[in-house]
Amino acid sequence: MKIPRIPRPEIGSISLSAIVALYLLLATNNSFWAHASVYFVHARTSLLAFAAALYLALFAILTPLSVKYLMKPALVILILVSATAAYFADTFGIIIDRDMIGNAAVTTQAEASHLLTFSLARHLLVYAVLPSILIVWVRVRHRRFLPKAAVNFAFVSVSLLVGAGLIYANFATVAYALREHTDLMKRFNPSGPLIATVRYGLSTYRERNLVVRPLGTDAHQGARVAAAGKPVVVVVVAGETARAMNFSLNGYERETNPELKALGVVNYRNTTSCGTATAVSLPCMFSVYPRSQYSDWKARSTENLVNVLTHAGVSVSWWDNNTGSKGIADLISFASQTGRKNSPLCNNGECLDEILLGDLDRKLGAATSNSVIVLHQLGSHGPSYYLRYPGAFRRFTPDCRTPELMRCSTAELVNAYDNTILYTDHILASVARLLEKHQDRIAGAMIYMSDHGESLGENGLYLHGAPYVIAPKEQTQVPFIAWFSEPYQAAMGVDAGCLAKDADKPKSHDNLFHTVLGMMDVETRVYNRDLDAFAACTRPANKEHQPAPGYHAAQNGEPASSAGGPQEARWAPGVL
Ligand SMILES: [Zn+2]
Repeated sequence: MKIPRIPRPEIGSISLSAIVALYLLLATNNSFWAHASVYFVHARTSLLAFAAALYLALFAILTPLSVKYLMKPALVILILVSATAAYFADTFGIIIDRDMIGNAAVTTQAEASHLLTFSLARHLLVYAVLPSILIVWVRVRHRRFLPKAAVNFAFVSVSLLVGAGLIYANFATVAYALREHTDLMKRFNPSGPLIATVRYGLSTYRERNLVVRPLGTDAHQGARVAAAGKPVVVVVVAGETARAMNFSLNGYERETNPELKALGVVNYRNTTSCGTATAVSLPCMFSVYPRSQYSDWKARSTENLVNVLTHAGVSVSWWDNNTGSKGIADLISFASQTGRKNSPLCNNGECLDEILLGDLDRKLGAATSNSVIVLHQLGSHGPSYYLRYPGAFRRFTPDCRTPELMRCSTAELVNAYDNTILYTDHILASVARLLEKHQDRIAGAMIYMSDHGESLGENGLYLHGAPYVIAPKEQTQVPFIAWFSEPYQAAMGVDAGCLAKDADKPKSHDNLFHTVLGMMDVETRVYNRDLDAFAACTRPANKEHQPAPGYHAAQNGEPASSAGGPQEARWAPGVL
């Protein structure tokens, strides 16, 4: 039997541009329109004019692309980019900005695989593949070169003029909405993700000739650590995607911190993150720059906390169970756990955080020098929360057991997430117990901060990475916990009881750099005592073991003064 041949329809290149512009505007911009309708709530006419101007701008951009051999691939790529960005925007409330492109560029295969789901494939089939097949199938009529150039020029000019006129007529409203809501145009497809990609590419290109400026080369360890009589070991746990509000230590109604509670830790209830994604927060946490002065460029072109510790003679290692140190540990001992084979704790390139504990036990048992060990957790990394905890910590049920969060109820999602916090509670308590186990030979302490929080469907947002200015507190309020062994408190003059009284004061990622330097008694010009979260409750080292002026005041529940004290003269605030 002969299959009847369906004749390929024909379409003019201008008409095809007009149709694809309309498709991009209406079919791949749900999130954009949802937000625009809120931002223009009292200016419906301006919104219509703005929409028409956007349509004309899209048309004006597509029309010059209507050259034979260029047009079809260009339209297919734009549709694919828009449809992909639209899926993440509509499903997780995510904005594809420069930082998000950066996250995608540095992600691991295992991490990315959780986002490549059946829902994504189905979405792309409907919104990208089918329209692309249509575009490839139709026969496009092109004029000869000169007439085509003249006609295209005329269409583009008229579109731009009319579009500009519409914006001019509504300028006050449109300008106000765009200025007040800087996220809006980032949500527009395909320009948002394309501009973000170009910006990321430019910043990466700029970094090719990067020269890293030395920092704190004057660093050395002070008298306390020298007099400790045993190696001083600080474990820095860099957490992942843990939000403060789901810690029972911070008042969460569910018991998610039974082990830390029993252990007795110093818990800072009011701590903010530097960014809302690992690629921003992690370098910022280890950077000398506070959030107000921080930029990705500055962080990459300046040495960080681990380098300053190395300058002071502290042995520093970074053990990673996440997607790497984002360049922080380039110059120090680095070990990734994720590639481990034959461990019951690992599966498909990802390991449970317990993988970090066995090595830690061995390392602490053999420690001979003053050391800082950074443990970079996988923590509560989504969307596959259910893979972050073993069966024994599946305490809150039913738990969402798919990366496709939309298939789960909010209760199931929160249950799975809370199980990850429960497991992190166990990991942190285990680190402290290991430091305690080896306390006859080391003076150990632990400091823990998460890199950012997580949205679990509040206001339609999921995961993290929202631009900081509009990020909800779910993404920016992070846990900050410390624990000190008896030998550490005795040797280093830190009073955990005093710190606990200070624990309601606001803290942030700005504190980590200076606090860890203080914890290792590192003296350097770049140390800023005011940002050392523990300084007010740390007895200065001097021959008579006299407390600092602020020390007794803080112990009595009064605010400690950061001025004065023998340390102040010696440890000048950081000069950058
Ligand atoms: Zn993260």
